[in-house]
Amino acid sequence: ASGRIAFLGLGHMGAPMAANLVNAGKKVVGFDPFPAAAEAARTLGVEVAESAAEAAEGAAVVLTMLQTGQQVLDAYRGRDGKPGLLAGAAPGTLFLDCSTINVVEAREAAEAAVGAGHRFVDAPVSGGVVGAEAATLTFMVGAEDADFAEVEPLLALMGKRIVHCGGHGLGQVAKVCNNMILGVSMIAVSEAFVLGEKLGLSHEALFDVAAHASGQCWALTTNCPVPGPVPTSPANRDYQPGFAGTLMAKDLRLALQAIEHAGVAAQMGPLASKIYDEFAAGDGARRDFSGIITDIRDRSSS
Ligand code: NAD
Repeated sequence: ASGRIAFLGLGHMGAPMAANLVNAGKKVVGFDPFPAAAEAARTLGVEVAESAAEAAEGAAVVLTMLQTGQQVLDAYRGRDGKPGLLAGAAPGTLFLDCSTINVVEAREAAEAAVGAGHRFVDAPVSGGVVGAEAATLTFMVGAEDADFAEVEPLLALMGKRIVHCGGHGLGQVAKVCNNMILGVSMIAVSEAFVLGEKLGLSHEALFDVAAHASGQCWALTTNCPVPGPVPTSPANRDYQPGFAGTLMAKDLRLALQAIEHAGVAAQMGPLASKIYDEFAAGDGARRDFSGIITDIRDRSSS
């Protein structure tokens, strides 16, 4: 897309993503109501406006990187009598939402944008703050073909894998499906390590077997929940995130909503959602999601 980009939501992810666009020569005007976030983005070289409307004025692309679907819908449609961004935008403006939100809300946002004469793309990411800073994010994109062709080069400035998953909302579907696999597999790997421990099997031996056998998965070989086998995994630094337990709990809640909406007879996804909600209500709020293994150990009989 050519033309100016309004970048709304300059938080942990948004600020470095916006900075990557600026560094690639794009004209970006950002906004965030949280002064510390706005200031941090300015430090990274991003121009920051005083309001969302000011940032969006004359923009060809309105990119949102917010916390929730309600925030996205409020920004689009307005709230408390204040007009939203859809009303003020030039016809055909591309509304690009990179937040991780509920599938139903993403489709609602698409309908609202299209209904107002604009275009909508959902493009949630994986790769975390590290990926946002290094421009190595994966984007899962739900878009019409022509809109995908237009946003792909823009997303490539902030990420390295851009996957067109289908029409509106299907980027969010791909995201919840992937993170449900991750949440469930981390619990399975953690339970296996605790079971091995209790029966005298060393972490190294289990890792050497499973990492090269049919138990192999990212939760084991990259984000290994015990210290030792994978020196870079958060377990080696007392579960400093990484991917915090609260964020996994949020993504699994979105998976649960999608499961209920679609009427799928899933059992592991909802159970993982419950397990991570409990983890995130305790010390999992600040720890990497692989710290779930300490909860499993604590709940096991000594
Ligand atoms: P964050 O809380 O750090 O940033 C969100 C920012 O949006 C906040 O600074 C907030 O003040 C701002 N905001 C709220 N309403 C706004 C509005 N109307 N206009 C402009 N700004 C507004 O969150 P984050 O960690 O950057 O995550 C953003 C999204 O990316 C979330 O949906 C999250 O689930 C997803 N995500 C995060 C990670 C991660 O590792 N942090 C990884 C993948 C996906």
